[in-house]
Amino acid sequence: MRRLTDDQRARVEKLAREAGTTCEGCGSAQLRCGEEARRTHDRGLMVYLWCANDVHPRGAYQYFTLPAGEVIGT
Ligand SMILES: [Zn+2]
Repeated sequence: MRRLTDDQRARVEKLAREAGTTCEGCGSAQLRCGEEARRTHDRGLMVYLWCANDVHPRGAYQYFTLPAGEVIGT
C-alpha cells in the first residue's frame, strides 16, 4: 500500500474522468480518489474511488485501475 499525495489524487481523479468513469450506484462523475494505492501484478496501479453523493448514506466505493505507464509520480 502506498499513500497518495493530494496532487497524485487530483491526477487520478482527472484520469478517471477522462476515462469516463462514473459511480456504479448513481452515475455521478464526481468521484474522489481514495488515499491509498496498490500495485497490480502487471505494474498498473489500483486505487479506489468514492462517491460522496447523498444517495449513498454510507458512501459508495469502487476500484479503478490505472494502466501501466500512467505516471502519477509514485
Ligand atoms: Zn454515487
